[in-house]
Amino acid sequence: MGIWKRYKQHIKNNFCLDQIPINDVAYWKTRLFANAIIYTLPLSLIAYIPGVYYSWHLGLYSLVLIDTLAVLLIFLIGFLPTLSLQLRKALFVFCVYFIAVTFVWLIGTSGPGLLYMLAASYFCILIFPNQYAFYPAFINLAICLLTAIIISMNILPWKESPTHNVSEWFAVCTNLIFLGFISSALIPRVFNSLDRALRMEQEMRMERDRQNLMLEKTLEDLKVKNQELEQFAFIASHDLQEPLRMITSFLGQIEKKYGDILDDKGRQYIYFASDGAKRMRQIILDLLEYSRIDQNRFKPEFVDIGLLMEEICILHSKTIEEKSASIHYQDLPVIHHYRAPLFQVLQNLISNALKYSHPERKPDIAVSAIWKDKAWVISVQDNGIGIEPAYFDKIFVLFERLHSKHEYGGTGMGLAIVKKVMDSLQERIWVESENGQGAVFHFTIEPIGSEV
Ligand code: ADP
Repeated sequence: MGIWKRYKQHIKNNFCLDQIPINDVAYWKTRLFANAIIYTLPLSLIAYIPGVYYSWHLGLYSLVLIDTLAVLLIFLIGFLPTLSLQLRKALFVFCVYFIAVTFVWLIGTSGPGLLYMLAASYFCILIFPNQYAFYPAFINLAICLLTAIIISMNILPWKESPTHNVSEWFAVCTNLIFLGFISSALIPRVFNSLDRALRMEQEMRMERDRQNLMLEKTLEDLKVKNQELEQFAFIASHDLQEPLRMITSFLGQIEKKYGDILDDKGRQYIYFASDGAKRMRQIILDLLEYSRIDQNRFKPEFVDIGLLMEEICILHSKTIEEKSASIHYQDLPVIHHYRAPLFQVLQNLISNALKYSHPERKPDIAVSAIWKDKAWVISVQDNGIGIEPAYFDKIFVLFERLHSKHEYGGTGMGLAIVKKVMDSLQERIWVESENGQGAVFHFTIEPIGSEV
């Protein structure tokens, strides 16, 4: 730390600035006072050296002594560690008034006495609380009146001066009294406004903290509720499987045993019942998958997206063959990430691209990747039925479907699962499409740690 910084810090420490709250006007007044001392000490030499030289030259030795005492006093105010803050302030104002009165006593209106008196009243207003703002104006008035009396007694050292008369004195010092009162009235207003602004800021900060706290609590509650809900979905879907298995198997038994004696209507009812049970089983399986999404269970590894695509194609080979679909992908990256969720997302998107194919076109699906803003953007493009832009958000919501089960089978959970996976990875997914023109699903993947 440089010498100037050390000097400033030393004085600020003596003024105990760190013990006053920063949002209190008293802090700013004290800071102003500390700065006044910090700068007055070196700058006082500008007044001291020529003043002492001039006084010495004129034989005004008492002025030399007063000037020296004043500089010493300011030095003590800044550096004496044991003084209380109030005493430092009082001494400082006293010191400036003392210089002022001495100048008036020894030199009169031609000296800087009245100037120092004005400065003393400014310092007083600036560093003391607002309720004392008019004190210096009255002190000025009292000093001026007293001086007028002393002038009339003809005992002042400058009695030979042509300005030594009461009327001249009043003509000059009324200006000082006027300036003193006007400053006492106006300067505190600035501090009042500052006080109001600081209070408002503090209230706003408190309100913000309170809201943050509430938000944190709500988030925590939400997290707990979410966990409970997921737990519930898991248990419910897990426990529902067993009775459903029974329904399906007994429906099978009825069909097997009594199929011959049932009429067409009866057989149709059994078909509807087992079809409903089958769909319910799919919903339960999807719900289970949805409630199990938790990336904390996975470990990052180097995932070759090209190899993932190969696996997905094998998984869907039957549909690909049935629909004569073509799937293109090349130059797909290897990403250091969690394999299972990436597989889940891509698998769901490819499955939808195959499912929502256009009745008049063979499915043509392309998977590509580009590197953008520190993340891979992977795109799955199809030439299927497309989605109306109005439904872009809706399709990611649980159980939301745009078609009836007769048109396209499904549970309305595939994209909800994809969205939840993406959210849990803190990645983004979005869609671009036009009705009847195919759809492109894009999702971002930021490599974890390192990337190949
Ligand atoms: P589902 O199990 O019904 O397929 P999803 O959550 O996977 O449920 O999809 C929600 C809806 O989004 C679907 O009902 C479908 O209308 C629409 N959709 C999803 N993928 C595509 C796609 N590739 N092309 C056209 N529509 C799609």
